[in-house]
Amino acid sequence: MATRDHLRHEMAIRLLTVSHIDQLTPSMVRVTLIGDALEDFSAPGPTDHVKVFFPDPATGELTIPELRADGLHRPTDGVIISRDYTPRQFRPAPFGAAELDIDFVLHAPDAAHGNPKDPAGGGPASAWAAAAHPGDEIAVAGPRGSHLAPRDVSEAVLIADETALPAFTRWLDLLPASTRITALLDVADEEVEPYLTSEQLKRASVEWLYREDGPGQLDEAVRSLDFAPDVYVWAAGEASSLVPVRRYLKHDAGLRPDQLDVQGYWKRGIVNRDHHEPIDPSDPD
Ligand SMILES: Cc1cc2nc3c(=O)[nH]c(=O)nc-3n(C[C@H](O)[C@H](O)[C@H](O)COP(=O)(O)OP(=O)(O)OC[C@H]3O[C@@H](n4cnc5c(N)ncnc54)[C@H](O)[C@@H]3O)c2cc1C
Repeated sequence: MATRDHLRHEMAIRLLTVSHIDQLTPSMVRVTLIGDALEDFSAPGPTDHVKVFFPDPATGELTIPELRADGLHRPTDGVIISRDYTPRQFRPAPFGAAELDIDFVLHAPDAAHGNPKDPAGGGPASAWAAAAHPGDEIAVAGPRGSHLAPRDVSEAVLIADETALPAFTRWLDLLPASTRITALLDVADEEVEPYLTSEQLKRASVEWLYREDGPGQLDEAVRSLDFAPDVYVWAAGEASSLVPVRRYLKHDAGLRPDQLDVQGYWKRGIVNRDHHEPIDPSDPD
């Protein structure tokens, strides 16, 4: 049985300021956030996520829900714009400013640093990250809970597209050294590769799959894997492309529910997809 312990966190909405921006690859930027509100931030699980609130592009105004004793309340004015992101790294600072990194995929073809090879269209989160500057303000809610990495599996297979690379690197940090890691990384092209450091590449057996080389490679690569009996498989990325992967792992490879976690982080053509929706409505978890 692959066990992932669960911790709950006190709900908090933190108003944060951009301190710096790093262009990691042509299509990914790291935004580092600071603020006193980070003091009690905690995200110890590899798949933890926060809700990031962005200013309304039409007015520049940042509208966030109000947190009261009885829960979250929508303000009567303003447009709330929020998306899910992975807290890539949190650096507490006993004597200075704590820092939180969030890595954004830029998928707007017309944004300043957009990825013209992925024509799916832009969105407010991607557009905000492409134009962000030190001093800009956003708000971050959560994480509400953390599922910790399993401690007791001999092998982990991790499958990720660009949006799941931040969580993938957290898996690399948080799995015990005794767990062998195999990774299938489904990315647009080789320009994404510098996202991983040489140290991170040493931790896993990584196969890069380039979407520019045509469809079907991820399914084929998954079908070619041999799984240890106690394997744990995590897959995250574009929801539709993960449907056949999940079907194979669940029904043909016969993985038990506790061995498998497949998450649609976004869905082509859908704005702000709710990741709690099943990726395959005909066969929910
Ligand atoms: C738990 C979780 C963690 C996540 N962590 C990260 C993270 O760390 N970094 C990250 O970049 N993303 C992450 N995502 C994905 C991110 O939330 C979505 O990509 C989100 O839709 C982006 O918002 P947007 O405003 O840019 O686009 P939206 O307004 O939501 O969508 C506009 C259009 O863009 C398309 N689109 C959305 N995302 C992409 C994409 N990546 N490539 C191409 N087209 C796209 C949509 O299909 C739609 O057609 C995570 C998602 C979840 C559920």
